[in-house]
Amino acid sequence: MSHVIAVANQKGGVGKTTTAINLAASLAAQGRSVLLLDLDPQGNATSGLGGAKLEGGSAYVALLGEGELSQKVRATDFTNLFIIPSELDLCGAEIELPRLEGHLQRLRRALGPIRATDEYEVVLIDCPPSLGALTLNAFVAADSVLVPLQCEYFALEGISMVNQLLDQVRSGGENPSLQLLGIVMTMFDGRTRLSQQVLDEVRTHFGDVIFQTSIPRTTRLAEAPSHGKPVRVYDPHGQGANSYDVLAQEVAHRLRLHIPAANNVMPAPVSKVAETAQEGA
Ligand code: ADP
Ligand code: MG
Repeated sequence: MSHVIAVANQKGGVGKTTTAINLAASLAAQGRSVLLLDLDPQGNATSGLGGAKLEGGSAYVALLGEGELSQKVRATDFTNLFIIPSELDLCGAEIELPRLEGHLQRLRRALGPIRATDEYEVVLIDCPPSLGALTLNAFVAADSVLVPLQCEYFALEGISMVNQLLDQVRSGGENPSLQLLGIVMTMFDGRTRLSQQVLDEVRTHFGDVIFQTSIPRTTRLAEAPSHGKPVRVYDPHGQGANSYDVLAQEVAHRLRLHIPAANNVMPAPVSKVAETAQEGA
């Protein structure tokens, strides 16, 4: 079975897509077969890996129940890395999906045959910057959620909303075993005190839920997508590439802990987050 990870945060510009692309590439470089599902109508993960947006090429029709999602999978230029591209038609999904019967389960159902095979060890879903129908579908379809959090002043606010949605999806019964895989701090700038303060504060609140690795703010990370390459190909020896490689090691480590999700291997961090969110509410 593949492990399905939704990369989500309702805010735009926090590093979701950068994390989805580069984490996928680093996991693939570990020798794992990785599928990146671009669920954002903007399609930045698709273009960031050098993919073209093809009409009818996205997950959209499969979400409507027409056709197999597996037929949308395309190879990339990078070994072990596959993609289901995005396309503008996904915009319609935010409106269309809620009108459909069983709309919360649409992606879970479409992904079923893919995750049941051993073809992809990890499936990463790059979510749009909202907590709408597509992100909700990703939460219902996923085994765990990975939240990129920008090292900026209101960082903590973003988390409580994601956390609420996690709780909602769990307690609503749509996906009771959904885990929070972790929070990764992005765009860390070691030259500013703010970055360190935010990191300290977030660590105090969330402890081990925060990945040890923070992603630094680097020009190379911002440039790589315009070349259609993950940073570990565009700038293999840079800090950005290294940090995503280390993050991928941490993720791989946590996944081994997580795979028997039914045993709730990681209850402490998850409930800690839930409590913190309630205190904040
Ligand atoms: P999201 O998917 O959450 O909207 P992106 O990953 O697209 O966020 O990032 C937003 C912008 O910030 C993009 O232009 C991206 O290239 C840039 N960016 C993301 N992470 C970094 C980083 N660590 N260093 C520098 N620029 C970054
Ligand atoms: Mg994005």
